[in-house]
Amino acid sequence: MEIKRILFATDFSEGSFHALPYAVDIAKNYGAKLYLMHVVYDVAKTAGWYVPHVSIDEIYSDIERSARAELEKTFIDEMRGLKDIERVVLKGIPYEEITKFAGDNNIDLVVLGTHGRKGIDRMLFGSTAEQIVRNAPCPVLSVRLPKR
Ligand code: AMP
Repeated sequence: MEIKRILFATDFSEGSFHALPYAVDIAKNYGAKLYLMHVVYDVAKTAGWYVPHVSIDEIYSDIERSARAELEKTFIDEMRGLKDIERVVLKGIPYEEITKFAGDNNIDLVVLGTHGRKGIDRMLFGSTAEQIVRNAPCPVLSVRLPKR
């Protein structure tokens, strides 16, 4: 088994933070490249919604900038000792972008939280974890939060 490229997907939730050490340790053990990815939900892709483009594009640019800054600053300690890291922010429907990216970039393993945020995005798009497990072209490691 070869694991050269690992994709860690985060919505900045506690569930995904709990999965991060698994991605980091596997990357270290296999000398793999680690992609840290966040997908900004594209509400305009939700059927039937009219979204005026001029203002929404500016809002998305802001959100994408913030997501990139968040990826840079959130995982500094965890990334120590890893040489090959790439941070990726995409816009779209998370499971679609993550599975497409995994296919396009020959990802060997996707790591994510079994659970993420429970907001309106979850109501709109359903379970990202379930869709990725069903559709990803590679193995997926889905990490549960311990029961309290
Ligand atoms: P969910 O199925 O929405 O509860 O989310 C499960 C896991 O999928 C989260 O813990 C994250 O690891 C990942 N995930 C969910 N939404 C996103 C997103 N927008 N971008 C990247 N990863 C995500």
